[in-house]
Amino acid sequence: MRIPDAFLPALRKKLHEKMKHPKACPICDATSPLALNSRIFTMSEYGDGDHTFPLLVLACETCGHTKFLSAVMLNIINLEGALLHPETGKRIPRWETK
Ligand SMILES: [Zn+2]
Repeated sequence: MRIPDAFLPALRKKLHEKMKHPKACPICDATSPLALNSRIFTMSEYGDGDHTFPLLVLACETCGHTKFLSAVMLNIINLEGALLHPETGKRIPRWETK
């Protein structure tokens, strides 16, 4: 699922507020912020289960170190799978996410 460009600045601001050290890569000590991918990915349960976890992906542009953050815990995706505005928490209509 693509995050609309209009909401990326608010999402970056929210992540910056949540992360204690947003500008330090633990692998290479790069000082630039980890780059936020503009799509939400899922991690699927191994085996016969059908559970999936929506994730935000952040990556170091120097070494490629990658972090996954739960989009549900950050209130970006609700339990029904709808995208929520990073500041208001209001549901974003599906047509705006394409
Ligand atoms: Zn790095």
